[in-house]
Amino acid sequence: MSIESGLPAGFNPDSFDVIIVGAGYAGTVCARRLAEACGMKVAVLERRDHIAGNAYDYEDEAGVLVHKYGPHIYHTTNDRVNQYLSRFTEWTNYQHKVLANIHGTLMPVPFNHTSLKLAFGEERGEALYQKLVATFGENKKVPIMELREKNDPDLAEVADFVYENVFLHYTMKQWGKTPDQIDPAVTGRVPVFVGDDDRYFPTAKYQGMPAEGYTKMFENMLNHDLISVYLNVDARDIMRVSTSQVFICDKPYQGEVIYSGALDELFGFDLGALPYRTVDMVFETLDEDQFQPVGTVNYTVSENFTRITEFKNMTGQKVPGKTTIMREYSRTYLPGVGETPYYVINEPENIELYKSYRERVAGVLNFHCVGRLAEYRYYDMDGVVASALDLSDDIIAAHN
Ligand SMILES: Cc1cc2nc3c(=O)[nH]c(=O)nc-3n(C[C@H](O)[C@H](O)[C@H](O)COP(=O)(O)OP(=O)(O)OC[C@H]3O[C@@H](n4cnc5c(N)ncnc54)[C@H](O)[C@@H]3O)c2cc1C
Repeated sequence: MSIESGLPAGFNPDSFDVIIVGAGYAGTVCARRLAEACGMKVAVLERRDHIAGNAYDYEDEAGVLVHKYGPHIYHTTNDRVNQYLSRFTEWTNYQHKVLANIHGTLMPVPFNHTSLKLAFGEERGEALYQKLVATFGENKKVPIMELREKNDPDLAEVADFVYENVFLHYTMKQWGKTPDQIDPAVTGRVPVFVGDDDRYFPTAKYQGMPAEGYTKMFENMLNHDLISVYLNVDARDIMRVSTSQVFICDKPYQGEVIYSGALDELFGFDLGALPYRTVDMVFETLDEDQFQPVGTVNYTVSENFTRITEFKNMTGQKVPGKTTIMREYSRTYLPGVGETPYYVINEPENIELYKSYRERVAGVLNFHCVGRLAEYRYYDMDGVVASALDLSDDIIAAHN
């Protein structure tokens, strides 16, 4: 592997079998598979000054390993994804836990047995819990809609508490919505966990953190003789897509192009910008060993940030006397000015707009869209890896 900043003088796209835009999961998994399975020579163009996309982590000035684009917790039930990534990293056995700060009391989320007792007091909380067990059974995740459907004032009280104190204000902050703009179907799916398990992903078969961090895992994945990575290169400066062809450096390109950037950007937003939420991530290093008891605390009824992450609690890193935390402030994303689009706004008119962009490239047979931006959808890391494995399967099959 080579990693360079910028394109070398005389860069010749035709000397590569594949051009990949983006060094996140989508681009990196495809790069490695095509190099390995087909002996293809691959150029990865990445406009940031680092690899690993939004999973990028680095040590800050205090020596604390932090996630630049928000806390990333690996969890999956997908055997193939786990097997693939495990070629490039060992995993820690971190199990993610989230607490909600509700008027100063920290309660497990999803709301569970412990949370009930913290919210309603030991005795009443236990009585409510026993009613939940009697109604739904133990170790069950029950949506609050089902609690309401029982027409039982106790269960309705639990549903109302969770809706108001765990879901409503948090969701308003996260999505910038008023209560009447929140889809009742989403509200109804908010879960209560009838049990004591306080893990956020209790059903994930595989869960943890890459032992040496995400960036190291990406370095290992890109470490192949046939892969060249060019950082600080915006593909739009050298790439143009017509209805039937991709042009790179002003010449039709015959190799495969794997694009993991945003389609609206590629076309200069000429049909309109695809809406997203962005997040201002504010880091702070404190002169203490530990700030909060778990990786993430959600501020569900107060503050104008949504949550605080403390990275050492997730990575297990030992840095005596220092810890770095990060607050997240969610807001509307402004297109075209270098902000990071984080969360797709999954509304029908946005999906229609996306489809219009996607139709434009449908006839370009060597142009493949993959990843959270190019597919305009929210993916967890395992989902995007699965999607990149599928795409590379297709390309490998076509070339063998
Ligand atoms: C705040 C937050 C927290 C998350 N937490 C988790 C979590 O805990 N667990 C989990 O499983 N998932 C999590 N995710 C999801 C995870 O970040 C994504 O699944 C993953 O990053 C998607 O990978 P990707 O390759 O599609 O996109 P990206 O990681 O965004 O990579 C795309 C790359 O393409 C580059 N690019 C774009 N356009 C161009 C261009 N024109 N030229 C050159 N390069 C370009 C970008 O700079 C970027 O590096 C989280 C997401 C967010 C927003």
